[in-house]
Amino acid sequence: MKYFLTEDQTPRHYYNISADITEPLLPPLHPKTKKPVGPEDLAPLFPMELIKQEVSKDRYVEIPDEVRSLYNLYRPSPLVRATRLEKQLKTPARIYFKYEGGSPSGSHKTNTALAQAYYNKQEGIKKIVTETGAGQWGTALSFACAQFDLECEVFMVRGSYDQKPYRKVIMETYGATVHASPSTITATGRAQLEKEPSSLGSLGIAISEAVEVAIQDSKTHYALGSVLNHVLLHQTIIGQETLKQFELANDYPDVVIAPLGGGSNFAGLAFPFVGEMLRGGKAVRAIAVEPASCPKLTRGVFGYDFGDSAGFTPLLPMYSLGHDFMPPGLHAGGLRYHGASALCSHLLNMKKIEAVALQQLECFEAGLLFAKTEGILPAPEATHAIAQAIREANQAKENGEERVIVFNLCGHGHFDMSAYEDYCKGQLKNHSIEQAVLEKSIRSVQLVPEEIS
Ligand SMILES: *Cc1c(COP(=O)(O)O)cnc(C)c1O
Repeated sequence: MKYFLTEDQTPRHYYNISADITEPLLPPLHPKTKKPVGPEDLAPLFPMELIKQEVSKDRYVEIPDEVRSLYNLYRPSPLVRATRLEKQLKTPARIYFKYEGGSPSGSHKTNTALAQAYYNKQEGIKKIVTETGAGQWGTALSFACAQFDLECEVFMVRGSYDQKPYRKVIMETYGATVHASPSTITATGRAQLEKEPSSLGSLGIAISEAVEVAIQDSKTHYALGSVLNHVLLHQTIIGQETLKQFELANDYPDVVIAPLGGGSNFAGLAFPFVGEMLRGGKAVRAIAVEPASCPKLTRGVFGYDFGDSAGFTPLLPMYSLGHDFMPPGLHAGGLRYHGASALCSHLLNMKKIEAVALQQLECFEAGLLFAKTEGILPAPEATHAIAQAIREANQAKENGEERVIVFNLCGHGHFDMSAYEDYCKGQLKNHSIEQAVLEKSIRSVQLVPEEIS
């Protein structure tokens, strides 16, 4: 059963949860001075409109007409009741999913890529440089840059670059230039290769490389596909649509689930629901699902940490495993980031959201069951949400209770066939990170300075 909205019902505003959070967020700090960063610190990297959104307290931020009409290439996206999965699980729970895999890049990342490319174009920028892990963000930004006649340069984490050759090809098809990271074209990349010639790279390293290139030219900006407030803001069109679709379904979720890499697709689906709750509306349990091999919310610490591994970015107040944490070569590449967005971290501290870490075998098993019953092959990241949805549905069955579950099917897995191949051949294994290893990398997370807390 599907719940569709018309193009006309595409949201006109982004929803800013900061307006509904009463306990103030800590500010990002300058990496050298350790003072709160101002707009002028961020201006070499981002257009002023995005910097304003980053600190905005307005509940609603208008979506520009041009961006909204580009959204209509693939939005509103469907909300689907997974009746075949329910039947298979013999659960009394009602399971819904919001499908973001129908976008040009195959994931939710297009929602922010289009907005970011638009604001950069408005400011006269010619080129955007970025990093990509699994490749979804690089694909989304390549497509968005093509819509606004901007150049696009992408540093792709070596591990996925080798694992997913067609990700590179699709980015090039949209007109982007792609480098494997660590690369030899930046000082950060060269230093890393000297330390470890066969490095598989990490998002932290790739971010450092992209930032290094962006700051060298005034007509070049940097763009981030997750973590920052403005990225989460753009994704809230997902949850706003879902709220309207639940009206059509004459239903309302008890549990809202999404995988969490940096926090953007989780925020996109969950924040409009959490916002309703913060304003006195119906309560929901919002659950962020992370991989057991990169467990920042469940085993990391809250403090100030860099967004990248070289320490170029501002220090962000977040749950982190330490900026040089090197996760194992996990197949859900989009979840291999060391930190979680400041907003998600803050809401976890306020106990307004929950977090759980799952092993990859359980997730792939859930992904296969979902593909067989509902027909869509999920991105490995999205299988984390499916696995948790199945846990919730099984628990509802045990308790003999109704439970309404919605999860974000944030992308399809058509470029991730090597992961599915490995799983089907029995070549994937679970990872558990030893406490001693975590404790070592966590040491680089800095305590909140007293004058700020
Ligand atoms: C990037 C990505 C993620 C992880 O990033 P978030 O910002 O946490 O959403 C998860 N799933 C897919 C499909 C992605 O492309």
